[in-house]
Order: sequence, then structure tokens, then C-alpha cells
Amino acid sequence: MSDKMKAVVMRAPNQYGVEQVEIPVPGYKEVLVRVKAVAICGSDPKVFSGGYLSINWPPAFPFIPGHEFSGEVVALGEGVTEFKAGDRVAGEAHCGCGYCANCKAGHYNLCLNYGRTPLGHRHYGFTYQGAYAQYNAYNVKSLTLLPDNISFEEASLVDTAGTAYQAIRLTGVTPGGYSATFGPGPIGIFTMQIAKAMGSKTIMVGRRERLQSARKLGADHVVDYEGVKDVVAAVREVTGGIGADEVFECAGTQEAVLQSLRCAKKNGSVAFVALPATDEMMIPVKTMVMNQIAVHGSRANPNCSAKVLELMSRGKINAKDMITHQFALDDIHEAMKTFVNRIDGALKVVVKP
Ligand SMILES: [Zn+2]
Ligand SMILES: [Zn+2]
Repeated sequence: MSDKMKAVVMRAPNQYGVEQVEIPVPGYKEVLVRVKAVAICGSDPKVFSGGYLSINWPPAFPFIPGHEFSGEVVALGEGVTEFKAGDRVAGEAHCGCGYCANCKAGHYNLCLNYGRTPLGHRHYGFTYQGAYAQYNAYNVKSLTLLPDNISFEEASLVDTAGTAYQAIRLTGVTPGGYSATFGPGPIGIFTMQIAKAMGSKTIMVGRRERLQSARKLGADHVVDYEGVKDVVAAVREVTGGIGADEVFECAGTQEAVLQSLRCAKKNGSVAFVALPATDEMMIPVKTMVMNQIAVHGSRANPNCSAKVLELMSRGKINAKDMITHQFALDDIHEAMKTFVNRIDGALKVVVKP
């Protein structure tokens, strides 16, 4: 094996391209993964454009983004007993330090040593070198073995599906009840699919091609917000006037925030999953008090990978049909353009290093 690899290296905001760089060497409890597929996340274009520099994503240049990946273990660092060469794995972005109070409680997405690389924390593709590369070294904590019937392409959607799973774990799902999702992007469609797998009747609020994709992927009811006068009334009507038991806000807009809280039933739950562009938004407090609405902020996907792989493996959720486009690593700009401009109905775009 040569000691060089291809990687998408970002040198400044909006300045990135494929370069030859050193292959990383796996350290203690790390394995070297040959990356087979990386899914473009909604956050990636904003990382590439420097939109998160204020929160140190990335902390310095040059930097290799990318965090929704799958691949094959090719070499083991010191102390690795969990994996062997040839293992097929899916990855996740968050790797906690492992010993802070939050990590010990299983909330490694909220590691108290966030960003402290020397203490073992990694947020791959954000604070630490990521997956738009032929190889990367990953801590064993960030990897999960793939079932045989899951392809690398499907497995690159584990991070996305896990983010949906986390929201559902926080709200719970009412079997035989109604769940509503705002925003038929990849995370929104996975919340709908998982809620449906758990016996919920699903309502998706969105528009255009993506709403059609949600319908094809199983949404029981769709509400086109461009086609109705009152979105809240339309969602409530589907539920017989009562409101949705659980609501997932995956759009991140002010309107969707207000509507999601207003279409939950009395004593219902709402999870905020989308990371909006601004911190301060209006919420309907009177409605929330009068209807006793429980609200959850939901971040990332701790301890979700094995669960969503099981759901995929058993055919309970469909990752395959969410992948609309695939590109080689060399075509990273074309891949980003296709994803950002939603060319040809692009939903999930996968890059193959
Ligand atoms: Zn992501
Ligand atoms: Zn920690």
C-alpha cells in the first residue's frame, strides 16, 4: 500500500478540491478504514462554504470534511480487539472522550470534552479529519459492523437514519396514533419511516419533489404547504381534529417551528431535529402551555447505529431508495452542486472514494 491517498482538502471557505495527502496512521484503539461510501449531509455544503467557522467547524485549514461514511477495516492500531481486517463497518460522526459524566451516561453526542482532541474527543468531519478521502483512522467507538445484506451505499446513511432514530427515542411513538414530520429531507423521511415501522400513521408536510419522495417511501398522508391555506388545520384534519401524537420538526424554518408546535395534540410531543440558521425564533408559548406540549431538542445519533442497521437489514426502513445519485470522489464539486441545487430530485447523494 502506498502511503498517499486521495482526499477532498478544504484550504479556505469555498476553496476545496482533491489532493494527494498522507494516509493517516491508526493510533491506540483506532482502525484504518478504507472509505467505500460517503453520503453528503445537509451540513456539508455549509462546512465547505465556511458557514460554521464561528463554531470552529473546522478548527483549522487544511481540513478534510465528511462524516456519513461506511467502509472496510484495513489495518488495526494498538489495543484493538473489536475489529479485524476485512470487517465491513458503518461510521458515525461523534466520538466522545469516554470518561466525562455525559459520555459515561451514554450521551457522547454531548461530550463535556467536546473539541478537545488530545483528550480523545472527535467530531469527524467537523473538528477532526473526516471521510471525503480514500482512508481515515477511526476510534473503534465510532464504528458498527454491517449486516451482510447491507451495501456500503446504504450503510453511508446510518448517520442520517440514526439522527432520526434519536428524535424518535426522545419523543417515543404512539402505535396506532399519528406522527407528523415537517421537512421531507433525508432525516425527515427517516423519522417518518421509523415511526411508521413502529405502528404510527404518518403525515409528511413539505412540497414538490421531496414531498413526492416521502409519499413513495411510505408517508400515509402528505400535506403540501404550497397547496393548502392553513397547514396546521390540514394536519389536524388528517388526525380527526385531535392533532398529532408526535411531531418532528426537520425543516428548521420559523413557519415550520410554529406550525409543528400548533399541530401537536394536547399532551403531545415535539422534537426539534433541524439545526436552524438562527438561534432565536418565535414559539407559541400560550399554545404550548394550554396544550401541555413536551419539547425535545434532538442532537445527532448516540447509540443508534446498530439499531438502524437492524431496521434496514430487516427491511423495516428503506435507505436504498433514498440514494438518488452517486459520484466518484474526483467529482466532488459536481456532487455538491447536485445535492445543493437538488438537481433531478436529488435526495441523498453518495460519493465513492
Ligand atoms: Zn450529517
Ligand atoms: Zn465525554
